[in-house]
Amino acid sequence: MLLRSALIALSLVGCGSDSPGSVPAAADAASDAADAADGTRTLANCTTSIAADAPEFFKRYFKCVTITVTATSVVIASEGLPPHKSNYWPNASPNWEAFDTSRGAMYLENPNKLQTQALRFTIPKEPVAKPITINASFVDGVVGTNGEEYGLGPVGVAIDSVALFNPLAAPGDDIEDEKYTFDRYNAHPEMRGAYHYHTASMGPLEVLKSIGAVTNTTPGSAELELYGILCDGTVVLGCRELDGSAPAGTLDPQGGHLHDLVDNKGVKLLAGRYHTHVCPSTAGARRFTPEIQYYTTCQK
Ligand SMILES: [Zn+2]
Ligand SMILES: [Zn+2]
Repeated sequence: MLLRSALIALSLVGCGSDSPGSVPAAADAASDAADAADGTRTLANCTTSIAADAPEFFKRYFKCVTITVTATSVVIASEGLPPHKSNYWPNASPNWEAFDTSRGAMYLENPNKLQTQALRFTIPKEPVAKPITINASFVDGVVGTNGEEYGLGPVGVAIDSVALFNPLAAPGDDIEDEKYTFDRYNAHPEMRGAYHYHTASMGPLEVLKSIGAVTNTTPGSAELELYGILCDGTVVLGCRELDGSAPAGTLDPQGGHLHDLVDNKGVKLLAGRYHTHVCPSTAGARRFTPEIQYYTTCQK
């Protein structure tokens, strides 16, 4: 009870004091400090614990998660709680903000609130490609049409600890309709409170900003765009490669291709890694996460 009343008191102090998106950079630090003081979950105060022997890719980019390694795998555990504001936080949380109604009457909140999750993905260090070629017949946007799709529910984790879902809506729904329930971060929770992304979001780009990798957190405009990793080892990038260049060559029907992931200093972080580009403005790229699991294993 004490905790609950403390949360309510904190929310009275914290809510409405922040208007992200329009805050000049100089005010950003002051508003971050205020957030930390009132108990708001942020990138600055969430707990990140990454094993020293984890691959550099994970050590550099992931926040608010616990990462351990085994001989063959990288194990990512996450509570799936966004280090940013959302209308889907419980109203008593200092992270709660009002639903953004400025986008038009099509946008309506769904009735769920986000809840702490126990996400855990055991991702192979050296994932093995399936013997398939991902062509248009695989990528149809319809759940259950072939055995190579990612499953429903959490299938990966974004670099800000939020769950990643595939782009297939629950049966009877359409992902293009579901997007109207997205919050300002292009996310929403499902019935069990699992808050998740299906598409590009400024949430992961705020991680990149926090480590000095970008100055712009608008999807499509950031200097580089990394969103997260899926259970099988597929990486989800945005309009840009990890080194900031534009994707080159032909992308498969889900915006994917295979090459080394290299940073802007030329350091190879993942060798020969399949990844997809989520980007509405690049030819061949896609607006949503991949539908087809490229590598053999998805261990949750
Ligand atoms: Zn969803
Ligand atoms: Zn690429």
